[in-house]
Amino acid sequence: MKGSDSITVVEVGPRDGLQYEKEFFETDKKIKLINLLSTSGLTRIEVTSFVHPKVIPQFRDVMEVMEGIKRRDGILYSALVPNVKGCQRALTTAVDELAMFVSASETHNRKNVNMSVDESLIALREVAEMGLKAGKRLRGYVVTAFGCPYEGRISVDHVLRIIRAYAEMGVSEVSLGDTTGMANPKQVIELFKAVMENTSLDIAAHFHNSRGTGLANALAAYQAGVRIFDSSVGGIGGCPTALGAMGNIATEDLVNMMEEMGVHTGVDFAKIIEAASFAQEVIGTELPSYTLKTGQPRWNQVPTDAPERNCS
Ligand code: ZN
Repeated sequence: MKGSDSITVVEVGPRDGLQYEKEFFETDKKIKLINLLSTSGLTRIEVTSFVHPKVIPQFRDVMEVMEGIKRRDGILYSALVPNVKGCQRALTTAVDELAMFVSASETHNRKNVNMSVDESLIALREVAEMGLKAGKRLRGYVVTAFGCPYEGRISVDHVLRIIRAYAEMGVSEVSLGDTTGMANPKQVIELFKAVMENTSLDIAAHFHNSRGTGLANALAAYQAGVRIFDSSVGGIGGCPTALGAMGNIATEDLVNMMEEMGVHTGVDFAKIIEAASFAQEVIGTELPSYTLKTGQPRWNQVPTDAPERNCS
């Protein structure tokens, strides 16, 4: 059990980030990115998705990626499994954890997977059974837990109903996703407090930075008692139903903020920057991460060419 002054970072960039990249991120480059992340001290990496390649062509190389990465001891390698077919393929690989998902919003779930929430939960029960039988750890996402563009705010009861369903399936950990970046810190504290009072499952926070509230929401979740945080190297990614389509909070920004507050992450900032720089080079556009541009705060260095201006 980790102390209150440390957190676990779940790197989701290779899946949640790359999922929305239009250009194919070459297989050997995906493998290199994951291998770089594996040397950073991270203990959790979501590496890919077993979605049908027709739905998301980016993951058509899922088997090559699973076989090509250099697995390190002490790291839990996870993959998204949208359905029974995806689960069957995942179980032929050395994946440690299966991540499932369902929206808290009925409309978003229909748009996302063309099923009602109840239909999704029935289908996921089968996935969970197969995964547990194969000895895999299970993670469940509650997508649009804080609100959705179709239905607005989501009630705590909706979120709790899904968490209870996950608990009955044997899921170990549930991640509450602000998929479209609609959450605010006050709401984050209220939802996590309500959820954590009503479940014994591990609860993770998953924030997208569509409106610049990502790190503020992470801090709010930390204050509410959350100790597991999802983030994406370089802040890559975004969701097509989110206006602005912004990615997750950047792993290096989360690590920097937490470490500066004295909260231990176990993650080597410099190594994450190396991975983020590599991702940026491959994608070919400036990534949204802040600390990829600025580095960590240093008090004894100012640029020698800094002009004297009336900065405020
Ligand atoms: Zn996400």
